[in-house]
Amino acid sequence: MTLFDSPAFEGHEGVHAFFDEKSGLKSIIAVHSTARGPAAGGCRMWPYASADLAMEDALRLSRAMSYKNAMADLELGGGKAVIIGDSRTQKTPALFEAFGRAVETLGGRYWTAEDVGVSPADLTEARRQTRYVAGLEGHPAASGDPSPVTAEGVFRGIRLCVRRALNRDLDRVTVALQGVGHVGAYLADKLHAAGARLVIADVNEAAVREVAARTGAKVVTPAAIFDVDADVFAPCALGGAINEDTLVRIGAPIIAGAANNQLASPEIGRELFAQGRLYAPDYVINGGGIINVAGEIRALERGEAFDDAWVQAKLDRLMVTLEEVLDRSRQEKRPTHEVANEVARARIAGAAENRAAA
Ligand code: NAD
Repeated sequence: MTLFDSPAFEGHEGVHAFFDEKSGLKSIIAVHSTARGPAAGGCRMWPYASADLAMEDALRLSRAMSYKNAMADLELGGGKAVIIGDSRTQKTPALFEAFGRAVETLGGRYWTAEDVGVSPADLTEARRQTRYVAGLEGHPAASGDPSPVTAEGVFRGIRLCVRRALNRDLDRVTVALQGVGHVGAYLADKLHAAGARLVIADVNEAAVREVAARTGAKVVTPAAIFDVDADVFAPCALGGAINEDTLVRIGAPIIAGAANNQLASPEIGRELFAQGRLYAPDYVINGGGIINVAGEIRALERGEAFDDAWVQAKLDRLMVTLEEVLDRSRQEKRPTHEVANEVARARIAGAAENRAAA
C-alpha cells in the first residue's frame, strides 16, 4: 500500500518530513486541513520504532485535530507534528530550534503547541525560529494550563447528558471518575460543588488522597472503578478505557469524560448505542483544551491579551454542538460517535466549499 492509499492519509492536504543533520531532528508535520483556518495541533516527541509508525501517528492525530477543531467551531484546521526521539534523553535546545525552523517553512499553515513529551520550555526554543507557536508562558496572550477549561467543558457536558438521559440534576447522581490528574482533579472539584457523589480511582495514590480529602469522594482501586454502581462513568486517564472487557462491567447509563480515544474501537461505540447508553463523543466534550489554545493563537494574531470571555463563549457553543450530536443520534437512531464524525466532516467540507467559491 502506498502512502496515498493508506486509510490514515485520507484527506490530508500535505505531509512534510524534516531532517536536520546538526541537531539530529527527524520530524513529520501532517497538515490534514486548512479549510477552516491554519492547521493547529500539538507536537509529540516519541521514540517511534520506525519512520512509518511516526508517519501513521502524525496522520491519525492531525485528522483527529481537524475534527476536534471543527466541533469546537474554531477557525482552525487540523495538523500535528511528531519528533522521532526519546524525550527523556534526546532533547536539546538545538533540536527544538530546528523544529521551529521546520514549522516556519510552512509559513503559518501550521501552528504548533505542546503534546506528549514536549514542554513549554521546548516551545520557547522553537519560538526563536518561528512565531507559529502556542502554549508559551509569561506573555499577555498566553493561555496557561488548558486543564481547567477542559474540565469545565467536560463538567457542563456531563450535566447536559445527565439532564437528557436521566432527567435529573447533578446533586442526584454518582459519578465514577477514572483518573484524577490535571483534568480529573478539576472535574472532581466541580462535580462535588454541584452536589454529585464521587467514586474515584487513580494509580497515583497521592493524587486520589488529595482529591478525596477535598471532595469526600470514595476511593476504589484502579481495577475496581469499572465495577462501581454509578450513573456516569467518566474516563479521565488513558485512551481505550471502554473496551470489550470493561464494557460488561461498567453499569453506568452515561459515559462522558476527558480522555482522548475512549472507545477501543468504533464497534464498542455501536455496542454502547445498542445497549441504550449515552456516550458523549470524547473529542467533542473535551474540546475545552483546544479552545483555550485557540484563544492564545487568536490573541497572538491580533496582538492582544488573552480574552477569557471569548473562551467562555466558545465553551457555550461547544455545548450547543454536543446537544446537536445527541439530538441527531436520537432522531436518526445512530451512535453518537458516528454522528459526531459526520458533523465534523460536513463542517470541514462546508468551509472548503466556501473557500473554493470565494
Ligand atoms: P494527567 O496525566 O494529568 O492525568 C491522568 C491521570 O490518570 C494521572 O493522574 C494518572 O496517574 C492516571 N492514570 C493513569 N493510568 C490509570 C489507570 N489505569 N487507572 C486510573 N488512573 C490512571 O492527564 P490530563 O491532562 O488530566 O488528561 C487526562 C486525559 O484527558 C488524557 O487522556 C488526555 O489526553 C485528555 N485530555 C486532556 C486535556 C487537557 O487539557 N489536559 C484536553 C483534552 C483531552
